[in-house]
Amino acid sequence: MLSPNKIPNLPIITPENSPFGVTVFVKRLDLVHPLVSGNKFFKLKYNLQHARKKGHDTLLTFGGAYSNHIYATSAATKSDNFKAIGIIRGEATTELNPTLSFAKKNGMLLSYMDRKQYRQKHTTEVINMLHKEFGDFYLIPEGGTNQLAIKGAMEILTEEDQEMDYICSSIGTGGTISGLIGSALSHQKVLGFSSLKGRFIIQEVEQLLRKYHIRPSCGWEIFTNYHFGGYAKHHPDLIDFIKNFNKKFQIPLDPIYTGKLFYGAMDLLKNNYFPEGSKVLLIHSGGLQGVEGFNLRHHENI
Ligand SMILES: *Cc1c(COP(=O)(O)O)cnc(C)c1O
Repeated sequence: MLSPNKIPNLPIITPENSPFGVTVFVKRLDLVHPLVSGNKFFKLKYNLQHARKKGHDTLLTFGGAYSNHIYATSAATKSDNFKAIGIIRGEATTELNPTLSFAKKNGMLLSYMDRKQYRQKHTTEVINMLHKEFGDFYLIPEGGTNQLAIKGAMEILTEEDQEMDYICSSIGTGGTISGLIGSALSHQKVLGFSSLKGRFIIQEVEQLLRKYHIRPSCGWEIFTNYHFGGYAKHHPDLIDFIKNFNKKFQIPLDPIYTGKLFYGAMDLLKNNYFPEGSKVLLIHSGGLQGVEGFNLRHHENI
């Protein structure tokens, strides 16, 4: 069974050391578990429990070749003695990248799906085909977002977070922020920073909240202007920010999710978005495994 490390919120900006009169804390979920890092720990937890209870011995899920979800699922299934199948978007490469080579080392069976079929992966047709090929399995969707993932994400905020006024999170599929919105208190506001280009994500989150009957007590807002060109795109300003941030605070960030969140939150801070005296919590959702692959792909040295 996965068990989490205890990680106290780390204050990085205080009214004493900054001109904004605001305290900024970081919740280092990247340290919650050595291999099942960040929000993925919370998103997988109840899915694994449920799969076990239903008598499955194999999990199947989907992801891109650098996916944090594939990485975390391979480690979680290994530690909980499940067999795992990873359906990877696109063509097989002769040499495995660091993410897939870790997944394979954990015993995950990697199977590649062309992009056209991959877009249809949620259809009964494709799922039936996968059952024909692989037999019985418990399915976790791409990115891991489902009802049990959101239930797990509701456990990210704990008692010590009740004093926070703002809770800031990165967004991919919206599962994590849905859990945060479901568990934040009425005096709190949840701010989401989308990694993807476009405003569609606001409706996706509204849809997730409706579908899973989450009635927020808190306020929430999603920013769609910190995507730096789109998902997994390379942008020099973001890279510079990540490097400088790490130099200043000794906190590593990734260029896909947490870098954009921290950049966005620091930008809001500079623009006096947060009233004086507020306490702001930034959720470090992990994703650091992807940095090595990103560096190789883009000849960077984050
Ligand atoms: C998967 C992931 C996210 C996105 O989470 P969603 O629940 O899909 O919105 C954010 N940050 C990191 C580091 C991730 O790996």
